[in-house]
Amino acid sequence: MRKQKIVILGAGYGGLMTATRLQKTVGANEADIVLVNKNEYHYETTWLHEASAGTLHHDRVRYDIKTVIDQNKVDFIKDTAVEVKTDEKKVILENGEIDYDYLVVALGGESETFGIKGLKEYAFSIVNVNSARQIREHIEYQFATYNTEEDKKDERLTIVVGGAGFTGIEFLGELGNRIPELCREYDVDFNKVKIICVEAAPMVLPGFDPELVEYAVSHLEKKGVEFRIGTAIKECTTEGIIVGKGEEEVEEIKAGTVIWAAGVRGNSLIEKSGFEAMRGRVKVQPDLRVPGHDNIFIIGDCSLIINEEINRPYPPTAQIAMQQGETCTRNLVSLIRNKTELETFKPDIKGTVCSLGEDDAIGVAFGKKMVGSKASFMKKMVDNRALYMIGGPSLVLKKGKFNIL
Ligand code: FAD
Ligand code: NAD
Repeated sequence: MRKQKIVILGAGYGGLMTATRLQKTVGANEADIVLVNKNEYHYETTWLHEASAGTLHHDRVRYDIKTVIDQNKVDFIKDTAVEVKTDEKKVILENGEIDYDYLVVALGGESETFGIKGLKEYAFSIVNVNSARQIREHIEYQFATYNTEEDKKDERLTIVVGGAGFTGIEFLGELGNRIPELCREYDVDFNKVKIICVEAAPMVLPGFDPELVEYAVSHLEKKGVEFRIGTAIKECTTEGIIVGKGEEEVEEIKAGTVIWAAGVRGNSLIEKSGFEAMRGRVKVQPDLRVPGHDNIFIIGDCSLIINEEINRPYPPTAQIAMQQGETCTRNLVSLIRNKTELETFKPDIKGTVCSLGEDDAIGVAFGKKMVGSKASFMKKMVDNRALYMIGGPSLVLKKGKFNIL
């Protein structure tokens, strides 16, 4: 019988989890496994707020994909996937094309700007190593030029963060530690710096535990963050942002740096390939396959699964992407071994921990609320666990977080 070919697009949490689990399970005579990723490296998306603020070097958040895959079993291709031609069972890459019997789409998310004018042009988003590096450099440049350029002097020291979801809050936590360092480095008076967080909802971290939210807000306010709650970004310009409370009150906030952390969507390849999707996310079947495409799995931020208890989609997280990778692997193995019964994906949510800089955090884990150094310790354990799940103890030793208080 002809060997089956499994192609995995994306070497993030979902894609690498699938590739590393498949290489342990599938015999060389059973299937060819191909992994496609646009970079030679994997990055920890969940650490990008640190690289963006400059509290962690971007090389700490990434590692060479070849260090975790068995190259005798998985063929790695560095290329960018452009489109899936489902009728031809083929993926168009920037530098060629590749056919498949089974496809796993794990291309992660992109920033969602909801059509708000000027955001794509003038705001930054924390999405990958390149954007993180650019944000870090941009902020540092504002401080470096504060004492040398008179033009828009005060705006240089104003940083606006759009969105007080987990990404916005974790980034603010890092800024809280980074800004005093930059002030010392470039002889800037800390009192001249403005960090403003604009959140459209009536509270920070909408839907999260109010007591923990209060702790986070108070911690960040002490570090100099000013919150504008119930206020939406309406437009971004070269000068800063326009915000509004309801329809009437409109105000301009001049800022040298605007970070848009107020929305994510699935990868644009999803819509380009004609999959039925909501903001680039495909509502997958319980076995993680795409309705009408029995040979295509979509996992991670490109997939949408419903939490039946509240009848709303699960938020896209690394935790879920990795668990989907495990289920997807078992289902692929069943298919290539001609078993018809596939496993239903059931998320096992162990909790949520939100860092507030490298030394503080809030969270709920295994049903228990925690704050401060205990929560911060838990966050580092979660980060190390993700490394362990994909690359084992050697990857934890190389990249793990051991700066435990
Ligand atoms: P990703 O891990 O993002 O990987 C996608 C991969 O696909 C990348 O390697 C990318 O380079 C590659 N790729 C993209 N497009 C192409 C293309 N066209 N061709 C080839 N390759 C391509 N979740 C948590 O559970 N806990 C957290 O603490 C947490 N913290 C976060 C902090 C930040 C700052 C952010 C932004 C997100 C955080 N999340 C967290 C969410 C989490 O990071 C995502 O849900 C998770 O990364 C999704 O995994 P994925 O496998 O779908 O995609
Ligand atoms: P999000 O969608 O969770 O939060 C975006 C926030 O922006 C919301 O609070 C929303 O009300 C606000 N917003 C939307 N439009 C706005 C506007 N025009 N002006 C001002 N505010 C506006 O996005 P996120 O924080 O990037 O998180 C994305 C995903 O990643 C989520 O699933 C999240 O759970 C996950 N994540 C998890 C962690 C963690 O577990 N520690 C950290 C980061 C991200």
